[in-house]
Amino acid sequence: MYDVNSKHADDFINHEEIEETLAYADENKDNVELIDALIEKAKKRKGLTHREASVLLACQIPEKNEEIFKLAEQIKKDFYGNRIVMFAPLYLSNYCINGCTYCPYHSKNKHIARKQLSQDEIRREVIALQDMGHKRLALEAGEDPVRNTMDYYLESIKTIYSIKHKNGAIRRVNINIAATTVDNYRLLKEAGIGTYILFQETYHKESYLQLHPTGPKHDYDYHTEAMDRAMEGGIDDVGVGVLFGLDKYRYEFAGLLMHAEHLEAAFGVGPHTISVPRLRHADDIDADAFDNGIDDDTFAKIVACIRIAVPYTGMIISTRESQKCRERVLHLGISQVSGGSRTSVGGYCEPEPDDEKSEQFDVSDKRTLDEVVRWLMEMDYIPSFCTACYREGRTGDRFMSLCKSGQIQNCCHPNALMTLKEYLMDYASPETKAIGDKLIEKEVLNVPNEKARAVVEENLRLIAQDNRR
Ligand code: SAM
Repeated sequence: MYDVNSKHADDFINHEEIEETLAYADENKDNVELIDALIEKAKKRKGLTHREASVLLACQIPEKNEEIFKLAEQIKKDFYGNRIVMFAPLYLSNYCINGCTYCPYHSKNKHIARKQLSQDEIRREVIALQDMGHKRLALEAGEDPVRNTMDYYLESIKTIYSIKHKNGAIRRVNINIAATTVDNYRLLKEAGIGTYILFQETYHKESYLQLHPTGPKHDYDYHTEAMDRAMEGGIDDVGVGVLFGLDKYRYEFAGLLMHAEHLEAAFGVGPHTISVPRLRHADDIDADAFDNGIDDDTFAKIVACIRIAVPYTGMIISTRESQKCRERVLHLGISQVSGGSRTSVGGYCEPEPDDEKSEQFDVSDKRTLDEVVRWLMEMDYIPSFCTACYREGRTGDRFMSLCKSGQIQNCCHPNALMTLKEYLMDYASPETKAIGDKLIEKEVLNVPNEKARAVVEENLRLIAQDNRR
């Protein structure tokens, strides 16, 4: 039975409720009166339920879709301004005992090169990432309880936070690792992780069981209830997502929003971020063999509908997507992008020889971080390397209330400008620096409070003299 408050996966991601939602959305996809009412409700910026948002996703009326896209763009601007948070993935290990049929790490894949970074190798990778200018990482690993132990992760996090090299420092370590116990989540929290990220892959239980035929990940309930355990372990920032292409996108969309509603109902705080990965070709994986791939237009519609359904939840897009596709969805709701990413284990230090490939999937956007930063600024976005919220403990519900009240723009805008200035001074090419300095000059004028503006201007001047406080 559907119960948003229940701690059981089958209750809060209830199959019958999703089927009824999809039927309701189908019945109403041409119901202009209802669609208009939902758009009006969404304009209040308090979000929509999974049922309501599913109607908008199903809507095929071109003029109404235009309104949906416009509203998503406006909500994105209102909540996030023109800032885009930058991050990079760091692959620690691709050892894995699961049998996920879409992932090259699956245990039967004998030709992928298996690697696990030592602490020394992590140090070298992190210095390479710092030298690009990154401040925020997402750690990635396969599931192998013997090799990729909790102790290994904890030691790796400690190593990463301890590395200071020139002006570089990783200030926020997020982590995307297999579902684990409340005690382990508590240890990750104590180690200072930012967001705990875990993709559901698919909310369709029957498909889930087929797509994960062997290994601990086969346990649908344990996987689906992982965010509840993470929150019980004290992690207040969790990142959810589905892998689009595995099952029908409308089912996944409803499931994703139900998951967010459940976390909000049970813990008073919804997910910090939603990721929207799409299935890619990879070693031993032919993405075309999966029937549920979605085109770029549908993908854009999904991003827009997520944006208006959960306005205060960050949205992440990775280098799985091309520059063109990223450009389109940035306007519609994405708030975080990766740049200069390598999906191989150890890939930031050394390119891998062809016969020793360890990467997780083909990267589509292969540009350097400098190029990604310049591209964003050319579109008038402010690439942000800011991690101030996290350092000041504004995570979880405190972050959400800041965001919901619209206050986030007042503190985030100046912080983004100052961290961008540091990036430009330390890492940018002359061309990128020139564009960035002009953008900062223009954007400083958008700091509303006069006193605050004076402080920002003074800080920018000091950073320009290489005087960091
Ligand atoms: N081991 C962790 C777990 O069990 O969730 C996940 C780490 S994995 C490095 C990160 C994510 O990559 C997975 O959750 C999955 O969604 C995604 N992924 C796997 N195979 C993929 C593929 N062929 N194309 C795109 N993304 C893929």
